[in-house]
Amino acid sequence: MGGRAGGGYNEPSMNAPAEACFQRCIDPACGASYGLTEVLTACRACGALLDIAYDWNRQSVPQKLTAFERKYATRRYPLHFSGVWRFKELLNFAPDDMVLSIGEGQTLLRPEAEVAKYAGLPQTSVYLQYEGLNPSGSFKDNGMTAAFTHARMTGARRAACASTGNTSSSLAAFAAATRGGPGEKRIEALIFVGSGRIALGKLAQGLDYGARTLQIMGDFDDAMRQVRAVSTRLGIYLVNSVNPFRLEGQKTIMFRVLEGLNWEVPDWIVVPGGNLGNSSAFAKAFYELKALSLIDRIPRLAVVNAAGADTFHRLVNEHGVSWNGGKPDTAKIDAFTRRWTPRTGTRTRWPAPSRSTAR
Ligand SMILES: [Zn+2]
Repeated sequence: MGGRAGGGYNEPSMNAPAEACFQRCIDPACGASYGLTEVLTACRACGALLDIAYDWNRQSVPQKLTAFERKYATRRYPLHFSGVWRFKELLNFAPDDMVLSIGEGQTLLRPEAEVAKYAGLPQTSVYLQYEGLNPSGSFKDNGMTAAFTHARMTGARRAACASTGNTSSSLAAFAAATRGGPGEKRIEALIFVGSGRIALGKLAQGLDYGARTLQIMGDFDDAMRQVRAVSTRLGIYLVNSVNPFRLEGQKTIMFRVLEGLNWEVPDWIVVPGGNLGNSSAFAKAFYELKALSLIDRIPRLAVVNAAGADTFHRLVNEHGVSWNGGKPDTAKIDAFTRRWTPRTGTRTRWPAPSRSTAR
């Protein structure tokens, strides 16, 4: 099932020089950078999240987005078939032969007249990007292919996540795909779940793919804390969205939205905000396209929080916190975090999605 690039297809190389990409602290005031083969989920200097940064002068990026359409004609190459790696020039952190793909990202943008009607908008003005068409059934496969590709670059033998559902089944599917070829180095999947806090269908999917599940006392946040500690101590590769490579894969959801709109930039992107990984990845996608002059404007991004998980909404709309050129008001965030979310570490996760408020 796992498609490995460089598997005798004689495909054109899309490799970039290793120094053209690095890991960088998302806080501009810190800006510490790290090599690609380091396994980190936070900046060693300041504890903030990391981003993947590119030296675009050393990357070979097409001059027009329409150039990506040509890859449809050569879909027998795994790197061209994948809806993520088809855009490899825009997330070129890995040698081609390290890419692990299970055919993710073959998803659709479709007009949705009923939703437009509900929202009181013209009939053909609302589109839905259906990421449920991914192999494991969720958008997580976009990021997981990138994380597993990086895991292979670092020689990882075990990969873990804390999850209540989609992340775990995606992790398990990709780990199973590393068992394939002769000489292939297998990566074992470990899933940390809080007691009684997992979707049973998703758990079954993970077990079916041969993942090992560890139930721990407590909720998702407890599981997350433990998996972070254990991963650091035992050298296990962590694939939760604190992993900066996940976001690189998730960027491609926006590339496919643009493709579905014939490369026309929409006015708005509306995205559900849970742990805000997609909000952060989508904003990064558009900023990079704009920096490369591949688009001429950045769409507005509307992040919709559910009532029971509305930290971002309250920080932005009630407390007036914004990205502020990389200097969000951390005193306000800390005060809010201490009062409302003492256990979840919102502060650490907050700066990344907040860049989506930059305009
Ligand atoms: Zn830092």
